[in-house]
Amino acid sequence: MVKSKCQSVYHRPDMKVAPFKFCPDCGEIINDKLRPKADCARTHTLRKTKGNKYCPDCGEKLGK
Ligand SMILES: [Zn+2]
Ligand SMILES: [Zn+2]
Repeated sequence: MVKSKCQSVYHRPDMKVAPFKFCPDCGEIINDKLRPKADCARTHTLRKTKGNKYCPDCGEKLGK
């Protein structure tokens, strides 16, 4: 079974500096240089409402 490739713009080669540490669509690390935000948990509900599958700050899967 082929793993579907994430279509997020953050994986594009011309996206040199991603604004997040993790991809909001697949949870992969897109910017290694950013530190995870300690208090991002309170933003998870809002992120999920906006359609993010993963938290871009900590990489945690949002929702169930
Ligand atoms: Zn992705
Ligand atoms: Zn988070």
